[in-house]
Amino acid sequence: FAPWDNPDEKPLVRFKNVTKRFGSFTAIDDISLDIYEREFFALLGPSGCGKTTMMRMLAGFETPSEGIISLGNDDIGKVPPYKRPVNMMFQSYALFPHMTVEANIAFGLKQDKWPKDLIAERVEEMLALVQLRKFARRKPHQLSGGQRQRVALARSLAKKPKLLLLDEPLGALDKKLREQTQFELMDIQEKLGMTFVIVTHDQEEAMTVASRIAVMDDGKIMQVATPEVIYEYPNSRYVADFIGDVNIIEGRLVNKTAEGIKLSWAEGEPEISIANNVNRSENENACLAIRPEKVHVTRDEPKDADNKIRGQIDDIAYVGNLSTYHVKLSNGTIFKAQESNIRRLANREFTWEDHVWLSWRSTAGVLLD
Ligand code: ATP
Repeated sequence: FAPWDNPDEKPLVRFKNVTKRFGSFTAIDDISLDIYEREFFALLGPSGCGKTTMMRMLAGFETPSEGIISLGNDDIGKVPPYKRPVNMMFQSYALFPHMTVEANIAFGLKQDKWPKDLIAERVEEMLALVQLRKFARRKPHQLSGGQRQRVALARSLAKKPKLLLLDEPLGALDKKLREQTQFELMDIQEKLGMTFVIVTHDQEEAMTVASRIAVMDDGKIMQVATPEVIYEYPNSRYVADFIGDVNIIEGRLVNKTAEGIKLSWAEGEPEISIANNVNRSENENACLAIRPEKVHVTRDEPKDADNKIRGQIDDIAYVGNLSTYHVKLSNGTIFKAQESNIRRLANREFTWEDHVWLSWRSTAGVLLD
């Protein structure tokens, strides 16, 4: 490897032009990707996009049809699973039902012929890490789902792998426990300074745990970036739509100035101001994305808004801390706006079919490719 400027960005895993075919079907299509040392990386995408195939190639259960996968300085494409410093934790946990928690954690170490005292020490360390000391002598059926999940985690970490793969690890847990476990996983990953790769189709989960996310579609990676960049600056309509809720307006770019550019989008409607966008030119067709929480709804015309349009309330969804308004524009499009309910009393004045103003700043919209 070349010397890396940023020590946090030293690749541990590299996919180089990796393609995986099953017969004539291409599951992974020419992917190049670096996963850094000590990062918590998420592969995110809808069912069938190829996430699990990426993981299985990392674990060694599948070999790439083309391209190179390396770990550190080694090409691992043809190294069998048990010879890789990689461990995979499955959604089903795959614990041995007749063995105690301790014995489950010690299993791999015994197979590798670790000396007895070192095994005992390591098991102790792992039990402490996942806070299961009190449960060392129990069998899996005497544990809750969350505890079983932690045993599985302890077992996959016991051998000190360089890379831990987590395949939908929290899928079986209910929402509250899932959220709590996400934070535990983050703590453990940080404590150990290890590289974790998680596969998930749950965008909130990826946003919560990961330092970087690769959004996949149809065997390809659409965007790799931090959760903030993926959310605030999606590079495509696909990514914008997949991560969170978004309003999309199509139109033509006009009136470019030093401050920005405008989008002409409907007959008789004012053009929409978009800040910056130095690399865009007039007369291009364009697609603008605006997150609902960046749009305000008011009854009176807002004074100093960069953008404001009229609409009529079509639907209101009250979700406790937030309310989402569906507002019909003059061209029939439904535009979503989300307001925090700190101002709920003021917002309660709106009802179905009310005429309202929608407004947002010129910096709130992002032009997509
Ligand atoms: P999910 O979230 O549903 O698990 P995924 O993103 O993990 O989906 P993969 O399991 O990687 O998707 O599968 C990607 C594509 O490759 C799918 O269309 C799948 O049918 C196909 N595929 C995977 N394994 C095989 C195989 N052994 N033989 C043939 N096709 C396969």
